[in-house]
Amino acid sequence: MDSKQPPPYNTIQQPQPQPGYIPAQTYQPYPSGPTQPPLYPPMPQPPPAQPPQTVIIQTTTTSNLTPIGSGPTRIRCPSCHADVVTTVKSTPSGRTHCWALILCLFVCWPCVCLPYCMDSCQNADHSCPNCGSYIGTFEN
Ligand SMILES: [Zn+2]
Repeated sequence: MDSKQPPPYNTIQQPQPQPGYIPAQTYQPYPSGPTQPPLYPPMPQPPPAQPPQTVIIQTTTTSNLTPIGSGPTRIRCPSCHADVVTTVKSTPSGRTHCWALILCLFVCWPCVCLPYCMDSCQNADHSCPNCGSYIGTFEN
């Protein structure tokens, strides 16, 4: 019986020197640093497109923009929004007094009352006969 001796385990498991794992250099196409991608200047934001809107400005103020004349004028009352014929009240203006002074000095004093009797020499205050609101003054 020739029993073979099993080969003695004499092979000492020497720790194989692990080959130093040298990690492959990670390929960096763009080395971080000065070569940053160029920063584009911020584009100015375009104004948001606004839908066309019609702005209706209604002026309710009683201004002289109201097309009124020296006489009763058919107008839409800005207060009661009714088509009315304005009531005209003549009031003496500075021009009326001026005319009166001129007449008194250069013509004759009884004529002083003349400008106050002439509507063309006075301002015409228009008011609404419906609601009585003041509409405007026509200055002669
Ligand atoms: Zn009115």
